[in-house]
Amino acid sequence: MATNTISILEEHGIRSTPCRKDMMNYFAKYKHAVSFPELEKALSKHDRTSVYRNIVFFEEQGFIHKLNDASGIVKYALCKESCFGHKHEDNHIHFTCFRCDHTFCLNDKHTPKIKVPKKFNLESYTIVAKGICDACK
Ligand SMILES: [Zn+2]
Ligand SMILES: [Zn+2]
Ligand SMILES: [Zn+2]
Repeated sequence: MATNTISILEEHGIRSTPCRKDMMNYFAKYKHAVSFPELEKALSKHDRTSVYRNIVFFEEQGFIHKLNDASGIVKYALCKESCFGHKHEDNHIHFTCFRCDHTFCLNDKHTPKIKVPKKFNLESYTIVAKGICDACK
């Protein structure tokens, strides 16, 4: 996980506005996925519309991905470097903690291969693992 999120933006030729910087720092600081209301609250000094636009922008640019952790709320998490500026490669499992309800991205190495019937075309899948996170143990 890269620590200097500002240089990541610059490396990919993305203008780092204050809102974008704060957003990247927020994602880098919290290792767990966040929902839009949480993000909006944390970045309340920025205009709600720019926060939303930047989420969409970062998603398009491969910096953050949307995930569904079975809570019914869409959440966002920072992508791995392999996504930056490319197509998303986020077929990793998400881990949700029973106690704090936080969802974390797991390493892709633990991702099982999904077998689909012939002529079926697998485009994406969601696997949610549940348990207790390190902070709650
Ligand atoms: Zn991604
Ligand atoms: Zn926890
Ligand atoms: Zn993820």
